[in-house]
Amino acid sequence: MATILIIEDEPELVKVLRSYLEQAGFSVLSAGRGDTGLSTWEHKRPDLVILDLNLPGMDGLDVAREIRRKSSTPIIMLTARVEETDQLIGLEMGADDYIAKPFSPRVVVARVRALLRRSESAPNVSKVLRLADLVIDLEGHTVEKKGQPIDLTPTEFSLLTTLAGAPGRAFSRLQLLEASQGAAYEGYERTIDAHIKNLRAKLEADPKKPRYIETVFGIGYRFVK
Ligand code: CA
Repeated sequence: MATILIIEDEPELVKVLRSYLEQAGFSVLSAGRGDTGLSTWEHKRPDLVILDLNLPGMDGLDVAREIRRKSSTPIIMLTARVEETDQLIGLEMGADDYIAKPFSPRVVVARVRALLRRSESAPNVSKVLRLADLVIDLEGHTVEKKGQPIDLTPTEFSLLTTLAGAPGRAFSRLQLLEASQGAAYEGYERTIDAHIKNLRAKLEADPKKPRYIETVFGIGYRFVK
C-alpha cells in the first residue's frame, strides 16, 4: 500500500482528498504547514507528495526544492488557477505534475495512480540503453553519465527514455506530454519545456548547447543520433 503525504493548509481540502485517497486504498499522512510537511516527509518517506503552493511556515516551492535535493519522490503541486507561471516554476523546482484548484478529487486520485505507476514500472523495451556516454537502465530506473549517477524525477526519466528510445526522431510536445503522463489529459504543452530544461541542466555539459536533447523548431525535441 502506497503512502501519500498531503501538505495543504485548507483543512476541508485535506479532508476530502484524504477520504478519496483512502477509499482508493492509499495510506494518507497530512501536514498543514510547509515546514512541518517537510519534516513529516523526512521521517516517513512517503511514496508521493501532494503539495500546495501557498503554505504557512514554508513556501511550497521551497518544500519541493528541499525534497528534490534529497530524493526523486514524485510531487504533485496544487495551484490556484491564476498561478499559471507559478505552475511552470513548480515544474522547474522538480514537481512532476500540477493540478489547478478547484479540482475534482477523482482527478487527483487518477493522477496519483498514474504518477506512481510511472515511477514504479519501467517501459518494457530493451533493459539498458547506451547512448554516447549515457547509460539508461530502464528496469533499475537509473541514469549514469560517464559512470556518475544522475538523479532524475519520474517525469524527467520518462521523457529521457521516450526521446532516447528513438534517437533522431523528432517528438512534438504533445507526444512527449502523452508519453510522460500516460494519457493526454489537459495540460500545457509548455510544461514539457520546463522538464526538458531541467533534464538538460542535469545531463548537458552546456545546457545552452545541448549535445543529447536537441530542440526541433516548430515541433519539439529529439535525442541526437
Ligand atoms: Ca494554501
